[in-house]
Amino acid sequence: MATATAPTGAKVPIRQTKLFIDGEFVDAASGKTFATLNPATGDVLAEVAEADKADVDKAVRAARRAFESGPYPKMSARDRGRLLQRLGDLIVENAEELARLEALDNGKPITEARHVDMPMSAGTFYYYAGWADKIEGTVIPVSGPYLNYTRREPVGVVGQIIPWNFPLGMLAWKIAPAICCGCTVVLKPAEQTPLTALRFAELCLEAGVPKGVINILPGFGETAGAAISGHPDVDKVAFTGEWKTGQIIMRAAAGNLKRVSLELGGKSPNIVFDDAEIPAAIKGAMAGVFFNQGEVCCAGTRLFVQSGIHKEFVQELANVAKSIKVGDPLDDATQQGAQVSQEQMEKILGYIDIGQKEDKAKLVCGGQRVGQRGYFVQPTVFDSVNNDMRIAQEEIFGPVVVAIDFKSLDEVIAAGNKTMYGLAAGVWTKDITKAHKVAHGLRAGTVWVNTYNAFDPGSPFGGYKFSGFGRENGRQVLDNYTEWKSIWIGLN
Ligand code: NAP
Ligand code: MG
Repeated sequence: MATATAPTGAKVPIRQTKLFIDGEFVDAASGKTFATLNPATGDVLAEVAEADKADVDKAVRAARRAFESGPYPKMSARDRGRLLQRLGDLIVENAEELARLEALDNGKPITEARHVDMPMSAGTFYYYAGWADKIEGTVIPVSGPYLNYTRREPVGVVGQIIPWNFPLGMLAWKIAPAICCGCTVVLKPAEQTPLTALRFAELCLEAGVPKGVINILPGFGETAGAAISGHPDVDKVAFTGEWKTGQIIMRAAAGNLKRVSLELGGKSPNIVFDDAEIPAAIKGAMAGVFFNQGEVCCAGTRLFVQSGIHKEFVQELANVAKSIKVGDPLDDATQQGAQVSQEQMEKILGYIDIGQKEDKAKLVCGGQRVGQRGYFVQPTVFDSVNNDMRIAQEEIFGPVVVAIDFKSLDEVIAAGNKTMYGLAAGVWTKDITKAHKVAHGLRAGTVWVNTYNAFDPGSPFGGYKFSGFGRENGRQVLDNYTEWKSIWIGLN
């Protein structure tokens, strides 16, 4: 077992670097490996086995076997629930180790990994533990001498492809409901962040997950990801990532008409009216955009602030942004960690450049890389932004917020909707009528009123338009992983 040392001196064990197929840790068929880096330093953390088509084929065969034979299909729904409960318990029991591993591999602050990622991951397993034996069919009062009833059956072998921003959290959102419904899984974590997924695979062995039910294959999108989404024996693919990748996945899935659900990007409007509770709105605007280094699909990156308070609000926001402590992810005092990769950091700095040069927006604070080692970016606020500018329309996926002025409710609903995306939105006002009008008027899957980034495994999450389709969480995600079967009994 390797051990990584964070710049703070913290030691983090890296126990597992192999593929997890059919209940065993194995090398890639090709023998290839790839490096996962520490974004705080750019140093190699570990060499991880690199799955490609041959490994995906093997994992899909194992998942198909586990779906059709052996203990899993015979397991009662209640026992599947117990298994999910156990996985939740194991995440809790190993939370500190997992949180450190997450902070090390992804670059997020340890406090966020501890207080957000781990409870969210365990909580998702606990929530679906409760659902497993409550996925009920119905009896339908049809005409004629029949008994007609429905059953909800697992969709089968599911391929799941996830991004790097909440590595264990996204894994939980994908695996927990799939297992809850009785599916088997082949999951590919993002190439940048494979480590917590592999540690989770060890927890699957500890929990007694039957072999082949959960397979975890680190690798690259163009090879392992494409092999999963194009595989003729995968029944469904669930994807979280960029819309352009979503399109590639849909095309690949068309081959065998796989079921598809997509959770894609966003450019969410966060709307502050003159009559808002200002300190709360400042806090919400901050958390809305700077949480997780801005690498959040539902980040409130288009900040609409009404004219009467606009100038003071943006100034105060910039003051608070300047006070954010950017630093080593493993340090308890750090509030903003490293961007996940050099590529991501350069993309963000590129957009900051576009904002100043091409869009001619006003840079109020930030705008620079922090230090020369690791991938840190200053919290950045732009003002005097027009909703049509590139920095207002394209997903930056970093700690960059653009402030846009508005006058009326109708104007801001129209501008809020003027985006290709429709993932989330925020509204800040003391006027309950206004709040509901805006919440109903915005074409987005989630609207937060006088709060931002509130989540619960019980509440559905997902997008309109280019933010994807299908919902995660809540009872809604169960539709992604089940088929309805209608059964007719003749009573003559
Ligand atoms: P991405 O580039 O689309 O990658 C996501 C996953 O897809 C990775 O595992 C990637 O593999 C894989 N992939 C890439 N090309 C593929 C292909 N041709 N076939 C199959 N799989 C392929 O997205 P990202 O940059 O990692 O993540 C950021 C994006 O995710 C943002 O747009 C963000 O808004 C979105 N996101 C959405 C939600 C949501 O719930 N709506 C949540 C989090 C993030 P590699 O490892 O090779 O990259
Ligand atoms: Mg890494």
